[in-house]
Amino acid sequence: MKPKQAKKLDPLPLILLVEDSQTTAALLSKYLGGTYRLLHVKDGQLAWDTLKQNPNISLVITDVNMPNMTGHQLLVKIRKSNEARHMNMPVVVMTTAEDNVDRNLAFLNGANDFINKPIDEMELVARVNVHYRLARTIRELEASKKALAEQATTDSLTKLKNRRAFFEAGAKALAMARRYMSDLSVILLDIDHFKAINDTFGHSVGDEALSVVADILMELSRTEDTVARVGGEEFAMLLPDTNRLGTAVLAERIRSAIEREQFVIGDKIHPMTASIGIASFGVDPAESIDQLLRVADSRLYLAKNAGRNRICVNDDGKTTFA
Ligand code: GH3
Ligand code: MG
Ligand code: MG
Ligand code: MG
Repeated sequence: MKPKQAKKLDPLPLILLVEDSQTTAALLSKYLGGTYRLLHVKDGQLAWDTLKQNPNISLVITDVNMPNMTGHQLLVKIRKSNEARHMNMPVVVMTTAEDNVDRNLAFLNGANDFINKPIDEMELVARVNVHYRLARTIRELEASKKALAEQATTDSLTKLKNRRAFFEAGAKALAMARRYMSDLSVILLDIDHFKAINDTFGHSVGDEALSVVADILMELSRTEDTVARVGGEEFAMLLPDTNRLGTAVLAERIRSAIEREQFVIGDKIHPMTASIGIASFGVDPAESIDQLLRVADSRLYLAKNAGRNRICVNDDGKTTFA
């Protein structure tokens, strides 16, 4: 039997405790120690340095009156930071019950909560728990928001951009090209006889072939380019600052890379080819990115009719420029 692996436990959440009194610090350690790890520093300046260096701190508890930098000054620094993890850091300020001035100031400076001195254990633990959990929930929401936005623009099979993202990027790129009179081209690629791959080897091998093509396109593209899967076995590339000649060179490079790819199925190598049409802003009609892509599509159609495994850069169906 396989030995059971010990589950690695997450370390306890880390709290930065900023307090110049050793007695208070010891008390807080005692109250929070079982649930949290405490990192104790004795003034605001040290706290700020520690915060910048340690990305694991998830909450700050600070005293107000301390040497070097007060709790108020520290709070201002945290809230004025342009790093999200500082700006959103939960900060609990320890004040004295009678001191409304300190409370008001801390509140105005962006404190999340207050705790009265002398510290009441239940109140401290309750407040710290609430703010820790709230901050964690906000972080999780932000992360899933980011993941969802990513999903909405990504093709799940190939991890390329999807059709929607391509047209969004295309509209922006076209507006830029118009404004700066710069080049912009598109490549439209369709795998030849792809149905045969599916029919012969099954859909999952077909999927693998799509990923192989996607990898080739990514490899041959630049970071400024947008590479997308815009249909079943159809791919599009958006190439800023690239003229017709440069696009033709790239298209031919892609065509030949796909032809050369050793697409192995079992112990056999299956030949795979693709046909490509291109179009360029400045030489082809480009009122919209749809229109530019339609031009590329009509050339792709010409390439298919001319026998596949070729690129077409002109409306006369020729590979070379007239
Ligand atoms: P042509 O050379 O004219 O382009 O022929 P083709 O067989 O490539 O073109 P056709 O449009 O007849 O077939 C495309 C095939 O792509 C049919 C469809 O089942 C398959 N397909 C579309 N999306 C996917 C997918 O996500 N995965 C797989 N495995 N196949 C897909
Ligand atoms: Mg003090
Ligand atoms: Mg096809
Ligand atoms: Mg097709």
